[in-house]
Amino acid sequence: TQQASAATRRYQGIDAAHHINAFLDQKALNQEGPRVMAEGKGVYLWDTEGNKYLDGMSGLWCTNVGYGRQELIAAAVRQLEQLSYYNVFFHTTHPAVNELSERLFALLPGDYSHVIYTNSGSEANEVLIRTVRRYWDVVGKPSKKIFIGRHNGYHGSTVGSTSLGGMKFMHEMGDLPIPNVVHIGEPYWFAHGGNLSPAEFGRKCAQELEDKILELGADNVAAFVAEPFQGAGGMIFPPESYWPEIQRICRQYDVLLCADEVIGGFGRTGEWFAHEHFGFQPDTISIAKGLTSGYIPMGGLVLSRRMGEALVEHGGVFAHGLTYSGHPVAAAVALANLEVLQREGIVDRVKHDSGPYLQKCLREVFGQHPLVGEIQGSGLVAALQFCQDKASRQRFANESDITWRCRSIGFEQGVIIRSTLGRMIMAPALVISHGEIDELIDKTRIAVDRTA
Ligand code: PLP
Repeated sequence: TQQASAATRRYQGIDAAHHINAFLDQKALNQEGPRVMAEGKGVYLWDTEGNKYLDGMSGLWCTNVGYGRQELIAAAVRQLEQLSYYNVFFHTTHPAVNELSERLFALLPGDYSHVIYTNSGSEANEVLIRTVRRYWDVVGKPSKKIFIGRHNGYHGSTVGSTSLGGMKFMHEMGDLPIPNVVHIGEPYWFAHGGNLSPAEFGRKCAQELEDKILELGADNVAAFVAEPFQGAGGMIFPPESYWPEIQRICRQYDVLLCADEVIGGFGRTGEWFAHEHFGFQPDTISIAKGLTSGYIPMGGLVLSRRMGEALVEHGGVFAHGLTYSGHPVAAAVALANLEVLQREGIVDRVKHDSGPYLQKCLREVFGQHPLVGEIQGSGLVAALQFCQDKASRQRFANESDITWRCRSIGFEQGVIIRSTLGRMIMAPALVISHGEIDELIDKTRIAVDRTA
């Protein structure tokens, strides 16, 4: 921009010359110039213009312990000095990845035994496709090949993970989904519930899964893959009736239930994992983001004991491996991150203190707001559904433009909130204080008021 400092203009120039950025029109961005984020501390960010922002989205739902925690930084430096890299591959391992796994399995609820580490959530879900198919081969059911995902589900941006996801506009850019991936409807009551109560609608959505399994033949269906609450597709909490039915159906037809916990994991809802919040027990858990609080890339696919032991006992060689699987520096940072979360009782605070406070304040401030038709969320994740008419749940035809405007006004107010279709989303770092929640809500209210 005209007024921007030399440093900002320099980085915007390099960005325009060399980057294809995520999920936006690069040509339009080049006109406007991105904000150049230079520093982070706690829940705050500063750009190269010196503007301060309360990061209401914890980066991309990932900086769970906030920015700049010395424990994580020190762990990375220590590990870099001691063993900067070695592979968990062929016949070697190293202490850092083992320390992490011991800690991870101690806090995972239920009977999980094995993990395959990756560098991201997309990769975790990519690994899921091969691992699930391998599992069914090993246990003598090789016809079980089809994955069922959901419309507007998001599982990443690689070929397999985009396919599992249900983002139509992503599928259209690249001849996806891959074969043997199909989708059912999303449990988005506000948009699709019609005259049904949320409970009836939840059951109807689950019934779609059963119908799809029967249509395809249970012998052909490998897994149902879903986020416990839908994130990038609008932060949608399904009705309470949904997950118990899904669990029953998966068990009845011997279809694996794969929970994508990439944003739900590590405390977001006030439980360590979002499937605990919704009360179901998945067979696989995809993790990333909050595993390292975004300080360094790391993800993984966690397997139930049934799957892990079958693969080990009967699988022989699994022809699969990533150079950076269980990278020692990422593992050391993840371990330090889990230690901070546990030592400071942060997840408990989300459940009993900061989470209820955010949810209460949101309902007080926006419950009667003419633009807000529904408020959803639990713990430190929430969505405000914008609508034209609350009573009839009529949505705006141009809802994406409206929420995008709200996001832009938020930026000007010094708060980062996310716009997704007709919803404004917030998911701040789990260390956010009451005072910072007040600031998040005050600034969001200004943005929503000015949007209306
Ligand atoms: N799964 C979910 C639920 C996500 O929200 C995301 C990213 O936002 C991913 C997978 C992909 O993770 P990554 O961006 O680390 O590849």
